[in-house]
Amino acid sequence: MLDYLSRANALLPRLRSRAATWDRERRYCHENVSDLVAVGLMGMSIPKAYGGPGLSLAEIVPIVEAVSGACTLTGRILVEGNMGALSAVMAYGTDTQKARAAALVLAGDKPAICITEPGAGSDAQAMVTRATPVPGGWRLDGIKHWITGGGVSKLHLVFAQTRDGIRGFLAEPGPGLRVARLERTMGLCGMPEAELRFENHFVPADMALPEVGFSQLIDAYNTQRVGAATIALGVASEATRLAQAHLTDRQQFGRLLAEFQGLQWMLADMDTELAAARLLVKDAAASADPFPDRTKAARAKLLTSETAVRVVDRALQMHGARGYGGDTPLERMYRDVRMFTIGGGTAQVLRTQIASHVLGRKLPQGRPAVDQIRGADMA
Ligand code: FAD
Repeated sequence: MLDYLSRANALLPRLRSRAATWDRERRYCHENVSDLVAVGLMGMSIPKAYGGPGLSLAEIVPIVEAVSGACTLTGRILVEGNMGALSAVMAYGTDTQKARAAALVLAGDKPAICITEPGAGSDAQAMVTRATPVPGGWRLDGIKHWITGGGVSKLHLVFAQTRDGIRGFLAEPGPGLRVARLERTMGLCGMPEAELRFENHFVPADMALPEVGFSQLIDAYNTQRVGAATIALGVASEATRLAQAHLTDRQQFGRLLAEFQGLQWMLADMDTELAAARLLVKDAAASADPFPDRTKAARAKLLTSETAVRVVDRALQMHGARGYGGDTPLERMYRDVRMFTIGGGTAQVLRTQIASHVLGRKLPQGRPAVDQIRGADMA
């Protein structure tokens, strides 16, 4: 049996040839998911005890990078089928919960993580979705929006308020859980981004994650951040490869584009910035135990997402009109990659988190209480 990276590499031509279809038709790539399942790429992080091979984050990252270069959508499925909500369940869940999550993911489910609400974006703890104890379990009520995979995913890790603070619940499609609307996104088309409504949705008692607090739950999200950084890296690396090929093919003024210093230096910057981003991603992935260090994950996502937007933009520019048109994948990559400075912690929120680490103190973002302001004035 081939190692996992070789299995992924063998799939790339097929993934690449279909990528424009999902984008154009805004269709979830079930066919690609079947391919991922067939070669064992869903649930690579699942421990052997639960039926997976138990690969480390550092081993999975190069696979996500390769796949994302061929098809961003499939890269995202790979991340959610190995990181994010799955990491939280595998770290904190009971045996029953781990076995349920593993069975679903190994069969091709891309779990959804449900944190964001209309009134709670960057300020996630302002969420108002409520979990109320009822006989035999919990009742969920609330609205989550921008939920990746909503309507396609079976397993949902839902963050909700309880009397004792925010807890995680594993919900599955059923009465009281519905897709209220789908966003029309700029890129990453084919992946549903849904508003989910929980209305008296019952979660059995054994599907409430053991009592871990919000900060522990969100720690699991650091695997997702490294995953998001890796997708952006994969797309930008592919764009650089396309740029290099174009410069050594297209002629103007009787010379190859590659002979113009203005373009050579753009390419050098792209290559250098990508190499730096790749090192941060590697560093963050290597720190996983089981979750990556939160500052390393934040640095990796911040640098890689912003770098990827610049790199893909330059690659598109180097292609002239061909980059702006639909005959190359660059305009799609440009739309796809733009998301990564927003979803899963915006670039601004990540900067605040890194600054907090550097300054060695919490940096509360809420308006200070009036007496605190008065105290500061008097000091
Ligand atoms: P806001 O929080 O309203 O921020 C608006 C702007 O203000 C941003 O630029 C932000 O950086 C800035 N800002 C806010 N607060 C501060 C501050 N204190 N200092 C400086 N700047 C600040 N969520 C999920 O729960 N599950 C998902 O599966 C999921 N998937 C997503 C997929 C996509 C494609 C996208 C775009 C989003 C997804 N999200 C998901 C939501 C995502 O995590 C949020 O969009 C993100 O946390 C930001 O929240 P917001 O969009 O409400 O922006």
